[in-house]
Amino acid sequence: TPLSHIRNFSIVAHIDHGKSTLADRLIQMTDTVAERDMKEQLLDAMDIERERGITIKANTVRIDYTAENGEQYVLNLIDTPGHVDFAYEVSRSMRAVEGSLLVVDSTQGVEAQTLANVYQAIEADHELIPVLNKIDLPASDLDRVAEQIEDVIGIDASGAIPVSAKTGQGIRETLEAIVHHLPAPTGDASAPLKAMLVDSKYDPYLGVVVLVRIMDGVMKKGDKIRMMQTGATYGIDRIGVFRPEMTVVDELGPGEIGFITASIKQVRDTRVGDTITHEKRPCETPLPGFKPSVPVVFCGLFPVDSAEFESLRDAIEKLALNDASFSFEMESSAALGFGFRCGFLGLLHLEVIRDRIEREYDIDLITTAPSVVYHVYMKDGSMQELHNPADMPDLTYVDHVEEPRIKATILVPDEYLGDVLKLCQDRRGIQMDLTYAGARAMVVYDLPLNEVVFDFYDRLKSVTKGYASFDYEITGYRQDNLVKMQVLVNDEPVDALSMMVHRDRAEMRGRAMCEKLKELIPRHMFKIPIQAAIGGKVIARETLSAMRKDVTAKCYGGDVTRKKKLLEKQKAGKKKMRQFGKVEIPQQAFISALKMD
Ligand code: GDP
Ligand code: MG
Repeated sequence: TPLSHIRNFSIVAHIDHGKSTLADRLIQMTDTVAERDMKEQLLDAMDIERERGITIKANTVRIDYTAENGEQYVLNLIDTPGHVDFAYEVSRSMRAVEGSLLVVDSTQGVEAQTLANVYQAIEADHELIPVLNKIDLPASDLDRVAEQIEDVIGIDASGAIPVSAKTGQGIRETLEAIVHHLPAPTGDASAPLKAMLVDSKYDPYLGVVVLVRIMDGVMKKGDKIRMMQTGATYGIDRIGVFRPEMTVVDELGPGEIGFITASIKQVRDTRVGDTITHEKRPCETPLPGFKPSVPVVFCGLFPVDSAEFESLRDAIEKLALNDASFSFEMESSAALGFGFRCGFLGLLHLEVIRDRIEREYDIDLITTAPSVVYHVYMKDGSMQELHNPADMPDLTYVDHVEEPRIKATILVPDEYLGDVLKLCQDRRGIQMDLTYAGARAMVVYDLPLNEVVFDFYDRLKSVTKGYASFDYEITGYRQDNLVKMQVLVNDEPVDALSMMVHRDRAEMRGRAMCEKLKELIPRHMFKIPIQAAIGGKVIARETLSAMRKDVTAKCYGGDVTRKKKLLEKQKAGKKKMRQFGKVEIPQQAFISALKMD
């Protein structure tokens, strides 16, 4: 295909605004997929992605379109991950295309993820086509939403296309706009090969399948290629395009998007954003802006049943095959036994992996409180990355601690603004910006990531009745008064409950934790002190009073069945107990204690 007849684009949208449905309609209207093979949300491959309506890996589809001018075009759609956790992946796939459809639900308006994604598109110099979706609904308000796009995003929305991805109205106009308003790619077929590694996924039959965008040169089967960042070399054994199923082609030239396989063993060997060139005739400079993605949120994953440790190892290793941004190392905890300390790109990433282990591998998990990566500066001048609060070095050797900060953007209807400001303030936030657009406010806060990883999103949803949208990016590290808080039960430290907290908030957190544990730990034959401490200093304390162990003592009279039931319950509960010195703590207590509210 000549470059002038190729259009590469992505779709940016807030979740639920209709990105997947629109992609389905574009595929359907162009007969890319036979009617009988058409299923909903064609591009969201994994079940879990379908259910949650999120995309984690970039997916792509090549669409052949005969325009109204009679010309044949090739349209390549890259469906980028829509969530902030995968911001780097999004920015790379944006650089693989020249334009974007900006889909906004015309019954809702611009939301936080619309903004985050559209800024990425603008940064990648995209031509944008605003699409106002869901016009079949009575609440659709085209004028208001078009105005909002102009006010909030600052782009011309006069040519916005009214669409119903549900009924198919406006789809033809959208295809024509792609052809006429998006620029064709540029590139030189005779120059040395320069291709971008957009994403990769593991296929059990083919090994690693690499999604590529060719900038210059031509790629063919049998070619010897080099990854410029990793230095690794491979021979291409398959080359093709997605329609959306894999279809082999002879070669890929400038402006084209497709896949290669090259006997690559694991996704870890491929780096999103790397430049692929020929070994024999390499290009001079790699594509700019490569940076590896690093995990920012860590937590421990432990099997509820310690007999399942090996199955958990197996599950984690398999998942890591397909996800280079997920890291893990073995961890053992007195409270929870053997498990893994795992690193993730963000909270959603964590949830997705945890869900997949529980569902696809059928392992019940205990997840410890998520913690961010702290930079601990020692008095000797060295710096340690702290992934687990339990490993915090002795304070006498520590000079200071830095924590990651984020820039959070929140869009919220005016009436809930006060609650949102209060929530951000309570989480040590610093207000950066506050603007109004229509009946909505947009607030920007500088917040510590540590205050957001717990339950910020849930709290935000509850104080705004679900009407706020939220997005964030990590801005850097800053020093603050951060200390490790330990929990001691009957004078024994319980490592699984250690956490990093801000000094000013330590008492409050400590008190809450002790109160909670007092309710969660069953009484013993002796008195049990429950304490929170920083260094050697106790900052909160509760005492669980002693009790006779015979649980049936509670029943007066002779109700035998009730007595029996209680004894059975006690027996079942025993299985899931952990021993701390003389104290037995039910596993459930850890899980509940780590849930902050
Ligand atoms: P995504 O999260 O942006 O991929 O959104 P989806 O494509 O999954 O759509 C979210 C929901 O909106 C689904 O229930 C769709 O059926 C519905 N939806 C999408 N487009 C339209 C539309 O044009 N009209 C109506 N009424 N519903 C739509
Ligand atoms: Mg979707």
